[in-house]
Amino acid sequence: MNLPQVNPRGYPTRQMGYAHRRRRTATNKRFSENSRSRGLGVLFLDELPEFHRDVLEALRQPLEDGIVTVARAGGTLRLPAQFQLVCAMNPCKCGWRGHPSGKCTCSDKEVEKYVQKISGPLLDRIDLHVNVPSVEYEAMRRKSKPESSAQVKERVDAARAIQSRRFEGTGIPCNAQMTPPMVGRFCELDSRCDALMKSAFERMGLTARSHDRVLRVARTIADLDGAEHIGVEHLSEAIQYRNTDILKG
Ligand SMILES: [Zn+2]
Repeated sequence: MNLPQVNPRGYPTRQMGYAHRRRRTATNKRFSENSRSRGLGVLFLDELPEFHRDVLEALRQPLEDGIVTVARAGGTLRLPAQFQLVCAMNPCKCGWRGHPSGKCTCSDKEVEKYVQKISGPLLDRIDLHVNVPSVEYEAMRRKSKPESSAQVKERVDAARAIQSRRFEGTGIPCNAQMTPPMVGRFCELDSRCDALMKSAFERMGLTARSHDRVLRVARTIADLDGAEHIGVEHLSEAIQYRNTDILKG
């Protein structure tokens, strides 16, 4: 079978000749095994709108199913491809839109063309949308000590330990991989949360897919808080991360 070339980091590389086929198969197998057993790869795409739209749309299936399907003349391969997608983009082509200096030279039409490369369905599969404003000089000079990475790691480890206990024996390592029935079981909402979710659903035009994704994020925020049940504060935070207005400048 004509296998696709995949390097250990998971990025497709150029097809190689027959002599390399055995090595290529071994590499594919190793990548698949890594993905299956660890599922910890991070794919970071900087300057997201600079990627070709077809490339971005091809991410939809692996983001949804954790599987990539490669069709070739000799057959079709399904490979495990679980990864964490992290993307960054500027607010416009020149990067200055919204800055107090007024340096942006892009027209509304140019901005629209720039952000339209990110489709709604792709955005729908990204759980956390975070707008990062430019840093003011005074804030940069401030001497306040931020939380250290070691302290953050402690909080994350504690939340992951809760999740390990929750999913013991299921083969699922964390909230992100909960199946819909698990979401129903572990992300129960009380009446206040339910009313909040309903309001967000109608106001923000959330899809059925994003509904489950919001609940998984809310469950994780509650775990970071050491809370047994999802509270209004956890759900509110999860909802505000689905800020689709981020692409409207
Ligand atoms: Zn601009």
